[in-house]
Amino acid sequence: MEAKEASTPATGGGCSVSAEEIEKWMEEAMQMAKEALENIEVPVGCLMVYNNEVVGKGRNEVNQTKNATRHAEMVAIDQALAWCRGSGRSPSAVFERTVLYVTVEPCIMCAAALRLMKIPLVVYGCQNERFGGCGSVLDIASADLPNTGRPFQCIPGYRAEEAVEMLKNFYKQENPNAPKSKVRKKECQRS
Ligand SMILES: [Zn+2]
Repeated sequence: MEAKEASTPATGGGCSVSAEEIEKWMEEAMQMAKEALENIEVPVGCLMVYNNEVVGKGRNEVNQTKNATRHAEMVAIDQALAWCRGSGRSPSAVFERTVLYVTVEPCIMCAAALRLMKIPLVVYGCQNERFGGCGSVLDIASADLPNTGRPFQCIPGYRAEEAVEMLKNFYKQENPNAPKSKVRKKECQRS
């Protein structure tokens, strides 16, 4: 909610974003979330922006990879690291000036990763009631935890209703893991 009404730039760890930037990049993150939904993944989309350039983007790939850690943020971090390698830049110098946009509040795992990578500012859509690491379940983002990276600033609530709607659409689908259900069906038919 706050982000929608914000007309002044928001800051975090030396990074600042304008309302226009938030609008532009969150639109792209929402598109990534839609793509996830179309691919029967939990609809979460993420974008990492450094110096007004997208250096990493990702959507949930958990079902596709059968890897529970392939959240949108993790996919985007891997891309951003590859971008650093490709452009000969130091990841730490890039990450500490990167803003991360994501359609759903980062989970506990991702929030811890964002701390470790020292990303200063995170703009997100709806809250993550189940696993949220920016205050919904645990407050990893601003907790005083020694030797676990750096706390980061959050701007929550941008296009939250749309993000929630997409999550609801996903959970309405009968079975998020289609190949497994096919196997089960076959087994049932045989017996
Ligand atoms: Zn996560």
